[in-house]
Amino acid sequence: MPNYDQQRKNLVELIRHHGISDTLVLNAIEKVPRHLFIPEAYRDEAYENYPVPIGEEQTISQPYTVAFMSELLEIEPGDKVLEIGTGSGYQAAILAEMGAKVFTIERIKKLFERTSKLLKDLGYEDKIFTFYGDGTLGLPDFAPFDKIIITAATPQVPEALKKQLKTGGYLVAPVGHSFAGSQKMVRLVKKADNDFETQFFGDFVFVPLKKGTE
Ligand code: SAH
Repeated sequence: MPNYDQQRKNLVELIRHHGISDTLVLNAIEKVPRHLFIPEAYRDEAYENYPVPIGEEQTISQPYTVAFMSELLEIEPGDKVLEIGTGSGYQAAILAEMGAKVFTIERIKKLFERTSKLLKDLGYEDKIFTFYGDGTLGLPDFAPFDKIIITAATPQVPEALKKQLKTGGYLVAPVGHSFAGSQKMVRLVKKADNDFETQFFGDFVFVPLKKGTE
């Protein structure tokens, strides 16, 4: 049995080395058993710093990217966070360990079912709420959110999500076409209704945000 605890400590050091300093992020990475979010065939690669397939043509983002986006969100304990693209559930678990209450939406039924069960088995049922549906519509019944994170490439940030963000809140998303090869990490700061400041943070590669469900 590989020493996952040691691998996780090494990963935290690597991520710290790459410039992540938010202790909430680093502590969460040290705590969450990433290998359990990854199909058994790839488990040995769970703590490598690259994306890994999770089935249904989707991937779990590389650990550094999860850490980077989590840091950009500047999570404060008690924040209500909306995530678009549950995937493996790893990003949601990191945010929950940072103290957020997470509402997360997935459009692929199989992933939604598998991940909902995993998160429940790991004891996250009162911190992470999973939804099956098209995340571009957000969750109007639970809005507004302190923070919103989109974990798939989108040419534009959907208007519904901008509306569901609290004034003063942050929305983090990889913006650009998925076929372009890479996207710009963007943070929108909501100044007032229809008034957003846009900040840019380098290039990242994501699977596409798609409409509808399957
Ligand atoms: N946050 C995930 C990353 C998964 S990759 C993790 O930690 O593992 C992106 C995910 O977004 C995929 O599972 C994909 O099916 C999902 N997705 C794409 N478009 C979506 C949409 N419109 N609504 C909800 N989920 C979507």
